[in-house]
Formats: sequence, structure tokens, C-alpha cells
Amino acid sequence: MSWGRQSPLRGSGLVAALARRVRRLFSELAAREGLTKLKIMDFCGTHEWTVTHYGLRSLVPEGLELVAGPGCPVCVTPSRYVEEAIRLALDGVVVYTYGDTYRLPAVRPVRGVRSLAEARAAGGDVRLVYSLLEAARDAARHGRTSVFLGIGFETAAPGYARLLLGGKLPRNLLFMSLVKLTPPAMFYSLEVLREKPTDAPVMGVIAPGHVSTIVGARAWVPVAEHFEIPVVVAGFEPADVMAAIALILERLLRGERGVVVEYARAVRWEGSPEAQRLMYKAFRVVDDAWRGIGFLPKSGLRLRDRLARYDAFAELGVREVTPSSWRADNPPGCRCAEVVLGKARPTDCPHFMRDCTPSRPYGPCMVSSEGTCAIWARFGGGGLASELARRLGLA
Ligand code: SF4
Repeated sequence: MSWGRQSPLRGSGLVAALARRVRRLFSELAAREGLTKLKIMDFCGTHEWTVTHYGLRSLVPEGLELVAGPGCPVCVTPSRYVEEAIRLALDGVVVYTYGDTYRLPAVRPVRGVRSLAEARAAGGDVRLVYSLLEAARDAARHGRTSVFLGIGFETAAPGYARLLLGGKLPRNLLFMSLVKLTPPAMFYSLEVLREKPTDAPVMGVIAPGHVSTIVGARAWVPVAEHFEIPVVVAGFEPADVMAAIALILERLLRGERGVVVEYARAVRWEGSPEAQRLMYKAFRVVDDAWRGIGFLPKSGLRLRDRLARYDAFAELGVREVTPSSWRADNPPGCRCAEVVLGKARPTDCPHFMRDCTPSRPYGPCMVSSEGTCAIWARFGGGGLASELARRLGLA
């Protein structure tokens, strides 16, 4: 994914045809069910990027709202772990991190420092890397005590596991596992929206394509069954997302629920058994804290005992967040917790594009290229969207 110039819309004729189909299906459904409004949740930050970047909201009927879910791992990493990483950097540990986590604001400053970027400015050795392998090679060269911040979802975990299990890390590099599992978060978001409904029900989910290559489409069956909604595993082209919306509406019209794979060119029903085997050989499942949200059962991964020598929590005294120590950890007024649960839009937040911008993020959803607020800040608004609808003859 790139923040660069707007990418050309591939398959615009197909997208336009799918958009017309979506409008027709929605009209039929609305008339039959007496609905004026319904919501479809896209879970993955990359889907939200596609929806917003290409202005797909302008192509669907007014009563069909596309809402974003908690599909950005940086946005949901608790502030406490950022604070722990800052402390380590200020105490002389080399900290390896991805670029977005580097700017992630902590809610409680550590010795006056609020982010890893500030920790580096204050003299800490914070290094930006693209991968754990890059960190391992660098750490092997200098030999100083180091830590890698292992943020990500199921897509990141097998790669981490392969290196850790293969003994590819130098002894001086420790791993802070902050990996999160997505099905529990999707389940929780939908539960919250069902218990405290907003203006319209969520009647379908576009499930994350990348994660599904690992966990398989079958991982979403409990969601579809429990909430009795269609779940469509989709790819990331605009046509994929529009096709997923059409599939959800078709299933609602036919009274069918369950899981459908639109992204069949990449996703298998069972996912990748080899990746799953690696992941669960290296990691154990724990109840985990999600920033702004709280503890979700069985939603995180920590290293197994066989990899204890790499575990930053034990080896560097990193403090775990526990249910009793967890505190709401977004800055005052930031509505990120509601944004990631699909309960609020970025534009509902009083800080949006005032004192919270991509260049000066105040809350966590404004940092990463997968954060909903950052995506809306860069591509949201009516400009691109209206232009796209006009070009496709739909405005
Ligand atoms: S605009 Fe900034 S402060 Fe507001 S919800 Fe988004 S990240 Fe939080």
C-alpha cells in the first residue's frame, strides 16, 4: 500500500456494473424489509483504504453505510507497551520498530517522552526496520541488547515464528510479542454494535483477505452463525470490495447467511495449515488488551516456553498489561476506541484534522497507513469520491 498519488482505478467498467447491481439489490432489500439504512463492516485496514482511497462510498446507495472495524494492529496496541519500549530505549536498549509504531503516541509520557520518535530525539537508539530479519542482521552486527516490537495480526505471526523457531535471532535480540488475533476482535465489535446499536444494524461483514490466507475462510463461520449475517472474504481491488457488497446483499435477499470467499485466488477454506502450525508452535494464545477497548479473551499471542530465551517480557522486565492494571488508554477526547469498533466515524471526533493530523497524530488511529482516521485524513471527504462517481456515470 502506498500513500502516494491516487492509483488508477483498475476495472472501472466492472466496478460501475457492480455498483449498479449493489444499488438494485439494496433497493429490493430495503423495499422488502422496510429498511431505510443498513451497515456493512469492513474489518481490515487495507479494505478501508480501498473503500476510501477509491471513493467507493460514493458508489453505494445512501442508506448503505460502510463502517470500518478494528483492522489496524498499530491502532490497538496498548499505550503501556509503547511506554515500555520508550523506557527501554531511554535505558540504552536498542529498539527495533516499524515506521508507524515509531510515531505512535503514548498516553503517559516516560520521563517527558511520548513516542519512540521522541525517545530517539532524546538520545535513545530506536531503529526503523521493515522486518524481524532486518533487525536480526543489524543486531548481530553490533551485539548490544536489543528488542524487536512484534506488532501485527495473523499475517505477521508465521514469519516471526519461522525466524524464532529456526534459531535465526542473535542472542542479544529479544522479541516483544504484541501479535493480535482478529476473529475475537471481529466478534467483540459485532457484539458491541448489537448490544448498543447505533442508527442502523450491521447486516454483513467484509472479512480480511490477507488474514484469511492464514486462518482460512472457515475462521469466520462462528461469526456468521452467531450473528446470523453473511460474511464475505474479499480481495483488495475496488471490484473485489464492490463484489463483496453485492454478495452480502444477495445473500440477505435470499435469506442465506454463512461465509463466502470472493478472494478465491488467494484464500482457501482451511487457510494455510503450515503457517498455522508454525504460528502455534512458537506462540500460545492469551487474553490480551486492545488499546481503548479492554481485554478480549483469547485474542493475543505470546511466546511459548521453548522460546523463553527470546522473550522480552521476562528477559527485560517488560510489564504486561493485566485486567486489573488496564486503563482506558487513548488521550482525552480521542474517539479512536469507537472508531475501531465501527461506532463512530473519524469526522465525529473533535480533534480530527484540527489538532490530530497525519503529520501530528494525537490519537493512535491517525498514525498508521491502516488507521481509519489517517486514511480518512488523506483520502476522505467528497472530492475524490464525487469525481469517481461522476467518471463512472453514477453521480
Ligand atoms: S482523529 Fe485523532 S483523536 Fe480523533 S479519533 Fe482519530 S486518532 Fe483519535
